[in-house]
Amino acid sequence: MKAVVVLSGGQDSATCLALAVKKYGAREVAAITFAYGQRHAVETKFAKRLAKRFGIGAHKVVRFGFYKDLTTNALFDPTIEIKDGRRKTKDARTPPNTVVEGRNAFFLTAAAVWAKTLGAKVLYTGVSQTDFSGYPDCRAVFIRAQEKAIRLALEFPIRIVTPFMKMTKADEWALAAKLGVFDLIANETVTCYNGIPGKGCGRCPACKLRNRGLKEYERSLRGR
Ligand code: ZN
Repeated sequence: MKAVVVLSGGQDSATCLALAVKKYGAREVAAITFAYGQRHAVETKFAKRLAKRFGIGAHKVVRFGFYKDLTTNALFDPTIEIKDGRRKTKDARTPPNTVVEGRNAFFLTAAAVWAKTLGAKVLYTGVSQTDFSGYPDCRAVFIRAQEKAIRLALEFPIRIVTPFMKMTKADEWALAAKLGVFDLIANETVTCYNGIPGKGCGRCPACKLRNRGLKEYERSLRGR
């Protein structure tokens, strides 16, 4: 096995999976999904479907049942209304209340442990700091530090690959089209915090970001 993809079932991780499969072939790629108490838990169902569609034999859904004991946020508690962060300066914003504290630290560590078991030295994650600067553990500086920490913890030369770190959502749509998975990503992923597949509820921050990127991408096609 060459690579493990952290597969949430949303646009970013599904496009990551397409990239990894193109590079290594489905037989050399494994996928891992986390059920951690998210209100849009339906995404794990879509992750399973996506793994099947891409011909992934090794797909694991791992339950983080303890997460809700440690913290809360608008993704864990459906009675909290989802609110986007506010822009503080050009490059900084307050985090949205959907931040799950330490999520990527947990997920990447768990995924790396499984990757080592499989002998896979590459770990894909669809994080981006371009669009979501309110999420501290989506930043490149965190990913590099986490990679170093995991290497030391496991004595294993894992490499964390973040293809979208500097991409906009419009760039991602263009990449999906180039990979021939545009329709699959557009219709069979769940990016929406309210768990509605495809274009989603249209109101939550995740939907707004997804749909704005899609519009931008479509505009760029017309401008050609
Ligand atoms: Zn939504």
